[in-house]
Amino acid sequence: MRLVLVGPPGAGKGTQAQFIAEHVAMPKISTGDIFRANVSEGSPLGVQAKAYMDRGDLVPDDVTIDMVRNRLAEPDALDGFLLDGFPRTVPQAQTLDDILRETADSELDVVLELVVDDDEVIRRLSGRRTCRTCNHIWHVDFDPPKEPDVCDLDGGELYQRDDDQAETIANRLEVYAESTAPLVAYYAGRGVLIGIDATGPVDDVTQRAIDALRPLRAGVSDA
Ligand code: ADP
Ligand code: AMP
Repeated sequence: MRLVLVGPPGAGKGTQAQFIAEHVAMPKISTGDIFRANVSEGSPLGVQAKAYMDRGDLVPDDVTIDMVRNRLAEPDALDGFLLDGFPRTVPQAQTLDDILRETADSELDVVLELVVDDDEVIRRLSGRRTCRTCNHIWHVDFDPPKEPDVCDLDGGELYQRDDDQAETIANRLEVYAESTAPLVAYYAGRGVLIGIDATGPVDDVTQRAIDALRPLRAGVSDA
């Protein structure tokens, strides 16, 4: 199954990707995680991406697309994947279509849109904490770890992302509205978009996503 999660920053894409990827047994590929790993390693890609990320702007398409092209060519992604945070612009979406056609003679099966309003996004991003070692996503109020700032899963240190400051969040929401929201119409026009209400408890949202994928998974395994 080739699956994309789309939605504003803070909609819960990373949170749901953790569970959905496990459920569909496909690798989760998060462009934000790959960029952040490169930034912390100080790699040339990380150095290039950092200034854009700190402002809450998108990293330029050519840089992002090369990175994703390489990742999708790795063996574990050849039969399917769950993309979190990519594509984020119409040119990225068009290039993804080209990559899939060229490398696997395939196309996307489904794009899940996580729907939440801006006020909820701001509440979620302001309290987000991420594990430095396993990248698991927590929230200080909505999904708190047992011990503050310690990941329940591996004991790793939790940190607050630099781009989760109020000013940067506001810019990221503008960037989403301008550059990424048009993807919803792009994929709806192709008949692959499924909208999910992403409010309420994390488990409820996961269940809605799994329910939405069920008919499709039956189709894929029958094929
Ligand atoms: P995205 O990847 O879309 O930017 P995240 O998955 O990182 O969003 O979620 C943003 C924050 O919101 C995190 O702190 C996460 O724990 C929290 N969160 C995710 N889903 C929910 C939910 N259904 N209800 C409340 N908080 C949530
Ligand atoms: P995320 O973890 O998805 O919130 O992404 C964090 C930051 O990484 C974004 O604000 C962008 O600066 C950058 N980024 C992640 N994915 C992309 C993408 N597909 N295109 C451009 N920039 C991206």
